[in-house]
Amino acid sequence: MTIGRGVLYIISAPSGAGKSTLCSMIRDIYPQISYSISYTTRAPRGNEKNGVEYYFVDKNTFSNMIKNNEFLEWAEVHGNYYGTSKEYIQNALSNNIDIFLDIDPQGAKQLRRQGIDAVFIFIVAPSIDDLEKRLKNRATDTDDVIEIRLNNAKKEVMSYIDYDYIIVNDSKEEAFKKLESIYIAEKLKIKHIKNINNLIKI
Ligand code: ADP
Ligand code: 5GP
Repeated sequence: MTIGRGVLYIISAPSGAGKSTLCSMIRDIYPQISYSISYTTRAPRGNEKNGVEYYFVDKNTFSNMIKNNEFLEWAEVHGNYYGTSKEYIQNALSNNIDIFLDIDPQGAKQLRRQGIDAVFIFIVAPSIDDLEKRLKNRATDTDDVIEIRLNNAKKEVMSYIDYDYIIVNDSKEEAFKKLESIYIAEKLKIKHIKNINNLIKI
């Protein structure tokens, strides 16, 4: 029995702020949340596998998908293309499934403009120095890529204004509590309750 409607959570953060870390903590506790897998032209990183972190496609395939109107939104980020499957999001929401959608601020802005019904969450590191340390410790990117991501982060931070919530990821545990609180509070909104008879006996 489905009590509530599926809620779409849009999560953005400058690279290295800890979005994947916090989302995987949420995923461990709330396995019912679905994570949209984006399409990207970037090469797999570390142990990434096609169909798990991303669908890795070439530029030609990506361009054809744009032409065929298959993306809910798409953007060029750090020199590569990334896009969200329209079909996947529509199917999940029509089946009342909650979705976490990890996209960059340009993509979030497109969805705001479309007037999509979603909860917009922005995650930031406490400082650019912390961000640099995190990217270096993560050791998944070359120095050149880290520099591009840090430069972009300085601009991306100013996009906070386009979101409903901001979480400063200083202590991981505190940041997780904030993300979890947002997840739960949004589920309790009346507009997300499908049928009161599924909640209480009257
Ligand atoms: P993103 O998905 O936003 O690019 P990650 O989740 O991969 O970032 O985090 C980047 C690095 O920072 C990882 O090595 C992660 O373990 C570390 N990290 C995440 N959150 C924190 C935190 N609150 N304090 C210190 N390090 C963190
Ligand atoms: P990464 O290469 O580190 O996995 O991701 C780089 C950036 O691309 C992150 O800011 C991430 O949120 C963003 N991103 C991932 N998928 C999508 C997508 O489908 N659309 C948009 N606009 N950005 C995405």
